[in-house]
Amino acid sequence: MTQQTILLVEDEKDIRDLLALHLQREGFAVLEAGDGLQAVDLARKRKPDLILLDLMLPGLDGLGVSKALQRDPGTASIPILMLTARGEEVDRIVGLELGAADYVVKPFSLREVLLRIRAVLRRGAAPVDALPLRWNDISLDTAGHVVLAGGVPVSLTLTEFRLLEDLLRNKGKVRSREQLLDSVWGYSFEGYARTVDTHVRRLRAKLGEAAAGIETVRGIGYRARG
Ligand code: CA
Repeated sequence: MTQQTILLVEDEKDIRDLLALHLQREGFAVLEAGDGLQAVDLARKRKPDLILLDLMLPGLDGLGVSKALQRDPGTASIPILMLTARGEEVDRIVGLELGAADYVVKPFSLREVLLRIRAVLRRGAAPVDALPLRWNDISLDTAGHVVLAGGVPVSLTLTEFRLLEDLLRNKGKVRSREQLLDSVWGYSFEGYARTVDTHVRRLRAKLGEAAAGIETVRGIGYRARG
């Protein structure tokens, strides 16, 4: 397997050095950026496999970096693992369209960061289909990372895309919140069920009428009608 590259964006040099050291020990190639503009520039030029992005940065912050990368088709599909300083920022990340694949709250353990990185990269390595998945009015193209609802492109975050993909691949079957966490986020923890609900709500809002076939199965999870 070729070496995977991680772009590490953190303005606090001590933390950046520590993370870089451990990522290199784990066999990753590491690119480093100390501010948001440098991060966007490096992501465009080097196309890393994953971006470990601190939310609080001078100038262009993590939110700005994430938005800039999502707008650019060349970088939109690079998964972002967000580092946040405080617990309350988690709500900001879930609430705002940050587009992050996952997040880790500071102070974090190195083990946790590595676990999340591996989970996100595993998800990214999922096979792509040559033909788009079709269901009701929805077309989902895993190769091009494009979703059409009624023929109109829908802008989904990476997580929303994976969630829809999982439901469509399992159409007709009930997917529990735990199964969805495991498949979409790469791990399943107690207390994360609400995260699934939040993302399904947002996915439905974006798909509009085309989402009518995504059913809530009370007490269990969700199902795309077969
Ligand atoms: Ca910072």
